[in-house]
Amino acid sequence: MTETERTNLQSSQSPARDVVIIGSGPAAWTAAVYAARANLKPLVYEGEPVGTEIPGGQLMLTTDIENFPGFPEGVTGPELMERMRTQALRYETEVRSELVTSVDLSKYPYVVASSYSEPVVALTVIVATGAKAKWIGLPNEMRLAQHGGGVSACAVCDGALMFYRNKVLAVVGGGDTAMEEALYLTKYASEVVIVHRRDTFRASKVMADRVLSHEKVRVIWNTRVVDVNGADEITSIELEDTETGARSSLEVGGLFIAIGHEPNTKFLNGQLDLTAHGYIKVDPWRTSTSVGGVFAAGDVIDDYYRQAITSSGTGCMAALEAERWLAHHAGIGESPILETAEGPVPASPEQVEEPPADRRSIPRSRRESGAPR
Ligand SMILES: Cc1cc2nc3c(=O)[nH]c(=O)nc-3n(C[C@H](O)[C@H](O)[C@H](O)COP(=O)(O)OP(=O)(O)OC[C@H]3O[C@@H](n4cnc5c(N)ncnc54)[C@H](O)[C@@H]3O)c2cc1C
Repeated sequence: MTETERTNLQSSQSPARDVVIIGSGPAAWTAAVYAARANLKPLVYEGEPVGTEIPGGQLMLTTDIENFPGFPEGVTGPELMERMRTQALRYETEVRSELVTSVDLSKYPYVVASSYSEPVVALTVIVATGAKAKWIGLPNEMRLAQHGGGVSACAVCDGALMFYRNKVLAVVGGGDTAMEEALYLTKYASEVVIVHRRDTFRASKVMADRVLSHEKVRVIWNTRVVDVNGADEITSIELEDTETGARSSLEVGGLFIAIGHEPNTKFLNGQLDLTAHGYIKVDPWRTSTSVGGVFAAGDVIDDYYRQAITSSGTGCMAALEAERWLAHHAGIGESPILETAEGPVPASPEQVEEPPADRRSIPRSRRESGAPR
């Protein structure tokens, strides 16, 4: 830590927090468990209900989770999240039920501002704010989604449930994600019907061709879904022709919305580098971001796996990296990982070079930049 940083730290109003975690999905709670067990007394901002965003994250919008290890009989999304939260609170974790409204990463230590309390000074920050699955906004969509009634925004998560087996399943969307979800569902459905509001797909040609040539897939073009019917379980969807306005119903046993995701990064106000699709950029196989001491985990860095278990995995990584960063840069605690991490294995013998004299596990780019890293 430099002299200026030390002065900033000492002159700050409230005592600096070792680790501030923003978010409340699997990534945030796993990071909290690890940070708390390392005596770092994490402060977690778990958010507050805003539309379909609820503290606890995306799993609050679903019922049965059958693919999270350790629950052979399955577990509901809300129960899994409650258990993770309880586990974090078993150790010294402080929780604030507030949204983080902004962060100041321009000077060190960092400042995290939230809806109601005074801003907090943070030595490290873990961003685990997830992503919003986009929903259409149909009158009965969320009612059936939240109670396991056959509406979902994740085919890979829910498609294999018994509920959806051997039924006609509708998929809404026309991009690569929709194509992937439709192909995935062909394993379980009697038929997959893609409802698309245009007359061509936005998806790459290769994906679109695979879908269009699949014997179980049918496409209804130039049509949008305007509502979903069913008291406790979906029975049909209401369709509207985008050219003629004609209405019709289609009997289905499930509706999968595949119209994209939006990572929750607005409060960062451009202070972290993002990918072209708006996810927080991290170093390969690390959770370190473009700003030293700031780590990111879960769906906010992930446009590929988007699963609870991968979010927990990167949450664990972020906490270990933060712990290590504090040991190296702020002299707090012991580094949990000594200088033993190995460099990447070369793909071919030609790529083998003399190892640098000072071979550390801190990525080169971090050591060369001027910011506190
Ligand atoms: C319908 C559905 C079903 C799914 N089923 C499964 C499944 O069966 N198995 C599986 O592995 N995965 C499933 N997933 C995917 C899984 O939910 C996500 O991969 C996982 O929840 C991502 O976790 P995360 O920790 O990144 O954050 P999220 O779960 O996205 O949660 C982040 C939370 O952080 C909070 N937050 C956001 N911004 C702020 C802020 N500024 N300040 C404070 N708090 C904030 C919000 O409450 C937000 O909800 C499903 C997803 C959906 C939508």
